[in-house]
Formats: sequence, structure tokens, C-alpha cells
Amino acid sequence: MEVTSARQRLQQMLADLDRSIGVLRGDPLSVDDRSPADAGSDLSDADRAQAMLTVATTQRRAVLDALKRLDEGTYGRCVDCAKPVPEGRLEARPEAARCVQCQGKRERRR
Ligand SMILES: [Zn+2]
Repeated sequence: MEVTSARQRLQQMLADLDRSIGVLRGDPLSVDDRSPADAGSDLSDADRAQAMLTVATTQRRAVLDALKRLDEGTYGRCVDCAKPVPEGRLEARPEAARCVQCQGKRERRR
């Protein structure tokens, strides 16, 4: 993938993530004015929002890292084995830091 189009896509992703994170954080998720009958669903809504916030924050960090690699000229190379990350993988996930093998190893280790 072209570095310029990768940068554009990453910056677009970053803008979208910032907006989502803002919405998730700004949402009051308050249960104060709800009836007790709604408390259960409110709690799961809050849990879901928290989970989405965690995912968005993690992905935002990955996008920022990818932009940093673009600046450093190491974008498109696996951060673990330094082999080129396949084009198709970068098309699907421009923020990918690792090739499929290293990502797989990393996920198995978790
Ligand atoms: Zn690798």
C-alpha cells in the first residue's frame, strides 16, 4: 500500500476513533433518574460502553503506533520479525503491526 494512502486511512481511522471515544466518554450513562426496573439493563449498557471504550482506546493506540512507524519509515514491516507485512493484511488492517505469524504467536501467548 502507498505510504500516502496508508497515512490518509490511518488519519481517518484516528478521527473516527476520537469521535467514538468522545461519544462513549461523554455519554452520562447515569442511572439516577431511571426506575429500579431499568437498573439491570442500564448496568449492561454501561458495561457494553466500557468494553467498546476499551476496544476503541486500544485500536487508537495501534493507529498512533502505525502513524509513528510511517514517520520512521518502518511502516509495513512486522515489528517482531521485520519481514514485510502482506499487502492484503495492511489493506484490511492498516494499523497492523505484525505479520500473521507473529500476531498469531502473540495471541497464543496471551
Ligand atoms: Zn513477523
